[in-house]
Amino acid sequence: MNREAIEEKLGELPIVQYEWIDSSELMFTERIRHICSTECPMYNTTWACPPAVGTVEECKSRCLCYPHALMFTTMVEVRDIADIQACLDTRADHEEVAHAVSDLIRAQGCSTMTLSTEACHICEKCAWPDGPCRHPDKMFPCVESHGIMATDIAEKYGIDFIGGNVVTWFSLVFYKE
Ligand code: SF4
Repeated sequence: MNREAIEEKLGELPIVQYEWIDSSELMFTERIRHICSTECPMYNTTWACPPAVGTVEECKSRCLCYPHALMFTTMVEVRDIADIQACLDTRADHEEVAHAVSDLIRAQGCSTMTLSTEACHICEKCAWPDGPCRHPDKMFPCVESHGIMATDIAEKYGIDFIGGNVVTWFSLVFYKE
């Protein structure tokens, strides 16, 4: 894979930071699952969330089938960070970037699996649990759904979360050559 060619293209996208990492460096934990099940309204509502994504062990095995990953962030300033809807409204732009990045890596002949932000909102009503996902090629489960602590990675690699009224979106594109 030609990383330089990809990095050149990454420079054309509104990405704030990126890092090439080994998947084995990621920490997977059950702790996030507790937050999913007790605090997230999307729990058990889409194929992109637990329990549909499987156990943390299953998620980990799936991720580790891909030895490498590219993680990246985008940032956007909102008027009031406490306005959850205003923050969520900025998510679609990040998801477009996530699709563009995974396309770039696939164009280099790699297979990919992408984890991105929040739950899936592609369909008006998710097919879970009555039928299979309608767009498995477009649907990106969220990073946390797989038990991955974004803050742990951020700390390890010096990824900035500016705070204030700035929303930081975070994605991981796993790949194998
Ligand atoms: S693409 Fe549709 S069916 Fe698949 S997870 Fe998203 S909302 Fe659900």
